[in-house]
Amino acid sequence: MSATAVSLPIPRVPVRREPLVDRPVDGSKKVLLAAPRGYCAGVDRAVVTVEKALERYGSPVYVRKQIVHNIHVVRELEDQGAIFVDEVDEVPEGAHVVFSAHGVSPAVVDAAADRGLQAIDATCPLVTKVHREAKRFARDDYQILLVGHSGHEEVEGTAGEAPGNVTIVNNPDEADTIEVDDPSKLVWLSQTTLSVDETMETVDRLRARFPDLQNPPSDDICYATQNRQVAIKKVAAEADLVIVVGSANSSNSVRLVEVALQHGAKAAYRIDYADEVRQEWLDGVSTVGITSGASVPDVLVQELMRELAQAGYRDVEEVRTAEEDLMFSLPKELRTGAHHRGGRGVAA
Ligand code: SF4
Repeated sequence: MSATAVSLPIPRVPVRREPLVDRPVDGSKKVLLAAPRGYCAGVDRAVVTVEKALERYGSPVYVRKQIVHNIHVVRELEDQGAIFVDEVDEVPEGAHVVFSAHGVSPAVVDAAADRGLQAIDATCPLVTKVHREAKRFARDDYQILLVGHSGHEEVEGTAGEAPGNVTIVNNPDEADTIEVDDPSKLVWLSQTTLSVDETMETVDRLRARFPDLQNPPSDDICYATQNRQVAIKKVAAEADLVIVVGSANSSNSVRLVEVALQHGAKAAYRIDYADEVRQEWLDGVSTVGITSGASVPDVLVQELMRELAQAGYRDVEEVRTAEEDLMFSLPKELRTGAHHRGGRGVAA
């Protein structure tokens, strides 16, 4: 079967045709730039994995699903020769296929092997950690309450490690209604990119019903998600408007918009590109907060800052709440002779 590119789920928002205008507001205009923001260690590794695979094996290299949830990154890799597919049965037999940062279920690994594909696993090690927890608790016969969004690739992959043991809990309200088999043998795990506050509300409501509910051995919501939420909370408290750079299917980008609104921002929007900023968003706005999701290259934030400078927002202050320096080594297939460029602001 010939491969077909994944139809990207994010239509490009129509661009603004007129440049932004510098209109007067009460007080001085200012940008608060959240840090940490943007690329995390797992995204950096996944993107470099595809680039190195293209270097080593030549084009095309197939990638199951979007390697990371960012439309700009996907388009750039397509330009370099990557072909994104929905499922491994779209990949020609024997070809190289990269599994995305969000992870895959064992069924996908088996399907790739049955097809004779040369699989390279770019699953973030912090997602793999949750897979290992799911397998371990399933082996010990626990029911696993997986807090996360049904249909998200990461949740499908984690649930696929223990299909008979996992019950997905999408939100706090579902915690009030889910059924369990044995309330004394329950553990909760989570998707890595959720809102910390909403997840804890879900868990509190689960524990109110099931007091013996066990916690995960360590935080499943990853360091990058947590750090970006802490930083945007601080920015949002002082911002009239928050702009989050990130794609619509990026869980942690969408969560950043929600967190900004819950922590003081008068308005918050998500954009893929700077030319999506509307003039009317800036009416009466003196302080703009900026952040970006963990799958967003900083060049897109720099473009946004240039755009805002045209509208008079030239005074930029960084609001840093954590230092990050975590890096992951590349998948084993690519380690020999490969140099992970790293150093792009990734951190722990
Ligand atoms: Fe890994 Fe977290 Fe980045 Fe996802 S957001 S790739 S779990 S570090």
